[in-house]
This record gives sequence, C-alpha cells and structure tokens, in this order.
Amino acid sequence: MANFLKEREGQIVTKSKNSKDLIGGRPSIAGSVSQRACVFCGSRVVLYPIADALHLVHGPIGCASYTWDIRGAMSSGPELHRSSFSTDLREKHVIFGGEKQLYNALNELIDKHQPKAAFVYSTCIVGVIGDDVQSVCNRVAKEKNIPVIPVQSEGFQGSKKDGYKIACDALATLIGTDNSKEVSPFSINILGDFNLAGELWILTEYYKRMGIQILASITGDGRVKDIQNTHRAALNVVQCSGSMIHLAKQMKEQYGIPFIKVSYFGIEDMSDALYEVAKFFGDEAVQEKARDLVKEELTNLLPALEPYRRALQGKKAAIYVGGAFKAISLVKALRLIGMRTVIAGTQTGNDEDYKLLKAICDDGCILVDDSNPVELSEFVQQTGADLFIGGVKERPIAYKMGIGFCDHNHERKLALAGYEGMLNFAKEVHDTVTSPVWRFVKRK
Ligand code: SF4
Repeated sequence: MANFLKEREGQIVTKSKNSKDLIGGRPSIAGSVSQRACVFCGSRVVLYPIADALHLVHGPIGCASYTWDIRGAMSSGPELHRSSFSTDLREKHVIFGGEKQLYNALNELIDKHQPKAAFVYSTCIVGVIGDDVQSVCNRVAKEKNIPVIPVQSEGFQGSKKDGYKIACDALATLIGTDNSKEVSPFSINILGDFNLAGELWILTEYYKRMGIQILASITGDGRVKDIQNTHRAALNVVQCSGSMIHLAKQMKEQYGIPFIKVSYFGIEDMSDALYEVAKFFGDEAVQEKARDLVKEELTNLLPALEPYRRALQGKKAAIYVGGAFKAISLVKALRLIGMRTVIAGTQTGNDEDYKLLKAICDDGCILVDDSNPVELSEFVQQTGADLFIGGVKERPIAYKMGIGFCDHNHERKLALAGYEGMLNFAKEVHDTVTSPVWRFVKRK
C-alpha cells in the first residue's frame, strides 16, 4: 500500500505465514482522520439504552444532536432515553460558567419526566471552562432523592474506548444500591448487549428455554432498578467486551461475580455462548436444555441458509467494525455462507484480540487497526471486495466504491444476533451483494 502514514506501520498487516502481529490500542495519529468517535460519544452509546433514566448532555447543542437517538436500541417500556436533552451552552456560559444552567435544566427535566436516575455527560467545553459538575449532581440528587450521576466524558480526553470505561465507572455507582429483586440460583447479567432491533429479546427467549434468569441487561432495554441489583447474579456474560470488560472486572473484584466473554453473532459463537453458560452452572438439566435448543434451532436454520450460501460462494468481504469480538464472529459467519474475508479491521481492538482475529483469517487478508477512509478505500480496490460490513461512517465508502454494504453497527434496525439473526444476516448480505443496482455503477 502506497498511501498510508509511516507512523501507522504495525497497525496494518497482511496475513501470511511469517507476518507480524497487528498492534492495537494505540492512540489515533493526528492527520489520519480516524473513524473513531470521541470520549463523550463512547459513554453516550453505552449508557443510552437505559430507558427509564434521564440523559442530559452538558454542552453545546451540537454534542447532543450528534448523539441524538444514536442507537437502534429498543425498549419494552419507557422511552425517555430516546430524547437527547442538552443544557445548550452558549458563549455567555463559556465566560461565566454553566453550573446554574445545569442545575436549572436538571430540576426542570426531573420534575417533568420523573426519571429513576439521571446521567449528566460532560463534553469538551465543560472540561475547558471547568464547571463543577459533580457538586451540581450531588446537590440535585439530595434535593430530588434520585441518583444523579456525572459522566466525566469530555470529548478531547481520548477516543470512544476511553468513554466506555467512564460509562462503566458511572454504572458502578448504581450497582449494589438495591436488593429488592428476586434472584434464582441460575441467574446471569448480560453485559454489552444493547437490544439493537430487539436482539436482547431473542437472547432472553433462549435463556428462558434453558431455565436461566436474566437479572439485568447492561444496558439493552435497561432499567435503573435492575442495574442496582446486578451485584446479586451468579455470572456476568459479556458480549461487547470492548465496552463492558472494565465493569465485568470491577464486579469480579468487588462482588466476586465471575464473567465469561461470548458473542451472539453466527451459529458457532451463539451456540458456544449457550453451552458456556450452561457449563458454568454445571447442572445436567440446564446443559441438556442447551443442547436441545441448539439442535432444534440448527435443524431449521441450516437448510434455510443453503440458497444464500450457493449464491454467495466465493464472494469477498471487507469488515471494519468497532470491536474485535464482533469481527471474529463475522469472519466465521461469512465463511458459513461461502464468503471469504479479505479485510478485517476494528476501531478498538487490542493486541490479544488481534492475535485471535489473525488466527482465524485466511492468508492474504489485510488486518487493520484504527483505519481511515483513504486506507479503507484503497484496501477495497486492492482486494476486489464485493461487500463492506461496517457502520454509518463506512456506508459511503462502500457505495462510492460501487460495492454492497451491510450495517452491523449500533444504528441498525435489523436483528443480527442469535439464530434468526444469522438468517437475517445471510439475507441482507445476499440482497446487497447480488443487487442489480451494481450493474449501473462503475466499480472503482
Ligand atoms: S469531540 Fe467534544 S465537541 Fe465534539 S461531540 Fe465530542 S464532546 Fe462534543
């Protein structure tokens, strides 16, 4: 590749027998136009699905509109999370401070919406002017008798990965503050599923069939009271490890709750997740229910996938997603429908994740950390990929290059987790790759 920045060496590797490991976890390089989002955005996407909480963005209106209804996270009840409230800071607040504005906004919104808790997000300008957000939150919490939690997520501190950790710290202040829920001996918390397009409800059904109680989901279809009770579950099951591993480790240390890392995408990983949870409880009846469930689901799914596999045989895919666990599942899922991954990259993977990713990719696959549009476009051209799997920022790259696109990011409206999600995925990939529209577009 001719056009990559010299400093990015080590973050771009073409897999071969002797290729080096990909380096992850580096800060973005100035001038690289990283696809990563800011710290505030990272915190906001993690906490967003808590549906009965107030989410107040302390900053200029742009930060709030940037993250307004940012996920396709569904709620089975309240929908307060879908409003992006803002203190709308202006020049005068930059000069005289925004604490009064914040205090007034919190009072007005809590009185109007009666939330179970409030999250207050600090944005770049709040870090610059130095508002004491913590003390305003403490004061309002006392006056309104609900948790009011500052999320110290000034955008310039790093990347969205740092925002995940800050969101976990905010959640940790809620955990362990209520003991009123009934807890079964086979109870789990789901960490890192955000109920995109109702995916959590698919998983809930599987776990119900196995006799497992989901005590709390953090944060998909989330409720404050459930989160306050999470310290009483037997096991934490972590899906999006990039966003939630910090909280899982913290809960292990503080409450002794073990955790396992899973993925719900693709047949193999979905089945492994259920088997792993069943194995943890060591109960023969639960394990048998897991085996029956997988058998039943596969009996229906495998024949349904066959026509898609035949049509997609030999096609090539590019993956550029947020976390490495998802990328790993996608490589396997694509293989199942006859496709080969020729580009695999993530925004937030670490060295360990990338070792696993490299191990499952074929020789010749380009592995990339923290990429940018110029690099991604060049990779697509170089490899002749027929499909791009990414998020909102990658969609235009795919269409400009004249190839199919599948949205696997947090805005999507199509459930892709679980067995029925695998079928949706195959159909989506098939429809975009074989669309007649590509006959009228000049491929770059
Ligand atoms: S980088 Fe700063 S100004 Fe931009 S959205 Fe993030 S917090 Fe707001």
